[in-house]
Amino acid sequence: MQMANMFAMMTTEIFSQTNLGLPVLAYRFENNGPEILVLGGVHGDEVEGVAAARALLKELMKNNPYKLNLTIVPEFNIDGVLLGTRMNFRKVDLNRNLPTKDWSPEAKTERYNPGPSPMSEPENKGLVEFLEKRKPKFIVSLHSWKPMININGACEEEAEVLHRMTGYRIDPDIGYPTPGSLGTYSGHEKKIPTITYEIQEEMPLDEVVKMHVPALLEMLKVCEKKYASN
Ligand SMILES: [Zn+2]
Repeated sequence: MQMANMFAMMTTEIFSQTNLGLPVLAYRFENNGPEILVLGGVHGDEVEGVAAARALLKELMKNNPYKLNLTIVPEFNIDGVLLGTRMNFRKVDLNRNLPTKDWSPEAKTERYNPGPSPMSEPENKGLVEFLEKRKPKFIVSLHSWKPMININGACEEEAEVLHRMTGYRIDPDIGYPTPGSLGTYSGHEKKIPTITYEIQEEMPLDEVVKMHVPALLEMLKVCEKKYASN
């Protein structure tokens, strides 16, 4: 399902449908370039990531000079965003539920509940279908925790510009195993460079926008050049 709207080149798509039956909206800018995916709100209580994704979308709706086919999903876990919970409505951690080789039904703690089977959750089914259909060259997923740019796969250039704009450290290892995570699934197994962007938790949202939107825009410039020939 696609709806054109008043904004040049922007369309919306239903990325997936949640357990509560809510549509997960994807906003798409097609401008004759490489496919890039930006996710926010994989963990519904990490409002800083949702705020950054929404503010990035707003900025691009006003002005989008980038030669990219860019998809932004600001509220990937919309049930969790509305309920203010890390997990989705079925209490599954969507960042432990992707069909990675090391997926395991055992949760380290309830917080990391991987669900009854890999990709059991509709949000992740939509994500995996999107990856297969659009074959993005690069993914960034906006979270909040300790400030960190976690890289999975060959995205040092993107991470470097984020580091320069924010001072956040770049780390190829988040510090503990993350079976079923997007970093493992797309970054390592599917060879799509993936950044898990951890914004400082509890940062006031106006500061989130001020610091991270310019950083993300600079990162998109890097993507435009880096993946142009692909
Ligand atoms: Zn998170």
